[in-house]
Amino acid sequence: MEKRGSPDGDPARSLEQGPEGLEGPETPIQVVLRVRPMSAAELRRGEQSALHCSGTRTLQVSPPGGGPDVAFRFGAVLDGARSQEDVFRACGVRRLGELALRGFSCTVFTFGQTGSGKTYTLTGPPPQVRRAQGEGVPVPPNLAGIMQRTFAWLLDRVQHLGAPVTLRASYLEIYNEQVRDLLSLGSARPLPVRWNKTRGFYVEQLRVVEFGSLGALMELLQMGLSRRRSSAHTLNQASSRSHALLTLYISRQTMPPADPGEPPVGGKLCFVDLAGSEKVAATGSRGELMLEANSINRSLLALGHCISLLLDPQRRQSHIPFRDSKLTKLLADSLGGRGLTLMVACVSPSAQCLPETLSTLRYASRAQRVTTRPQAPKSPVAKQPPRLEIEMLQLQEENRCLRAQLGQIDPKGMSSLEAGVGRGEGLGLLWTQPSPPPLQPQGSVGLGWPGPSGISMGCYRSSCWRTRGSGRKRASCRVARPGPGMNSASWPSRSTSWSGASSVPATVPSHALARPHRVPV
Ligand code: ADP
Ligand code: MG
Repeated sequence: MEKRGSPDGDPARSLEQGPEGLEGPETPIQVVLRVRPMSAAELRRGEQSALHCSGTRTLQVSPPGGGPDVAFRFGAVLDGARSQEDVFRACGVRRLGELALRGFSCTVFTFGQTGSGKTYTLTGPPPQVRRAQGEGVPVPPNLAGIMQRTFAWLLDRVQHLGAPVTLRASYLEIYNEQVRDLLSLGSARPLPVRWNKTRGFYVEQLRVVEFGSLGALMELLQMGLSRRRSSAHTLNQASSRSHALLTLYISRQTMPPADPGEPPVGGKLCFVDLAGSEKVAATGSRGELMLEANSINRSLLALGHCISLLLDPQRRQSHIPFRDSKLTKLLADSLGGRGLTLMVACVSPSAQCLPETLSTLRYASRAQRVTTRPQAPKSPVAKQPPRLEIEMLQLQEENRCLRAQLGQIDPKGMSSLEAGVGRGEGLGLLWTQPSPPPLQPQGSVGLGWPGPSGISMGCYRSSCWRTRGSGRKRASCRVARPGPGMNSASWPSRSTSWSGASSVPATVPSHALARPHRVPV
């Protein structure tokens, strides 16, 4: 399998060198594969391993009935002997953290069959409960997962940055296709997922908590973990029954700020612990467990479908059905947008799990061919393309000029407002006022002032009215280029030559002119 990413194979490095605020280079989703050790139950049942790591990036799969090995290649392949610290290092999460500090939106998500080690990889093993006292035994630090290690690194890094940083966190789960706030103060009620142009998909009313220390963040993590839905089934004693998303929002003031009003750089680091796909027959799920499993499988299917479509260059340009599930909505930016994404695919080595393992390996192989275009947001103004900025300045200037002109109109002088009716064409309004400031209008039709030299200055923009009889509402928002020789006499007929005006009745009754409605400028 070919080596993907930037020429030196390190997409994050090329991003760091690339121009900030512009659309970044195409960057593939990074995929790391982790093979967990055989579990005690698997060993007891005498199951064999079907997986062999050859080198640091290749996994060989031996089909149980014989036949040639199948090889899969990923960014890194980690066998069952690798420690949690090894996994943290190999995943390059610190680099994602650095990019989040620079304003990028980064996501780490685990993927795999139920019981394959996703939750263990992200947050370590669940705390053991001492039966006698009923209290949790803390997890030894060497077993802490990627999340706790990233938190410790980030808090330390922020302390040494020498720039003000505000850190906030949210934690939610998607359970049976409902979003629930794991940090809510009261009981968790379902929250709606909304979309808007600036934020993309987001969860409304989600609690976002500011924190200032590692201890405070760990408490938030514990609070969420203890509230998250989990159940025991044949393949996992503590199987997560929901997808969980913990997001860190990093707001950092650049030092020194380029200008005093410069807004802070806002990056995100999101950890997604997916619930595992499961064969209901293998897990023995019944009743509520089966409903949960179906809902998990459906959303994972939607995720797989989006990934497949993202790989098709033609479909990618048109429509990706991110709206098919809450999970795909909330991962839309990580998969097809402007974020940087790391996927940790987890598998069991047991030959008994081979069908699910192969499915995970294929899924992960496809995912590493999906690319995003990471982009660090800059200040809201700088984010706009130059063309829009220029247009905005022109409109502001025009607005200022119109306001000045309106200020000169004596309210009684409104009687001098003439209505121009173009026979069979429509209607416009004309002020017989002195010359407006020199604008360079373009286009055709609207409201206008005749200039002193007989040139209509055409500084006008919006009109909107209802023509009785037709029941139609007509509106325009344009700026006109005056025709040569246009003056106050010629203006009405010119000002009423609306494009598409044939929809207006040929004869406009006089009462239709009674109350023209001007759109405020
Ligand atoms: P998943 O989240 O994928 O359903 P879990 O992370 O809950 O699976 O892991 C299932 C079981 O396997 C747990 O008891 C967990 O402690 C154990 N486990 C998973 N990965 C490892 C590992 N790398 N080393 C030791 N135990 C592991
Ligand atoms: Mg889990």
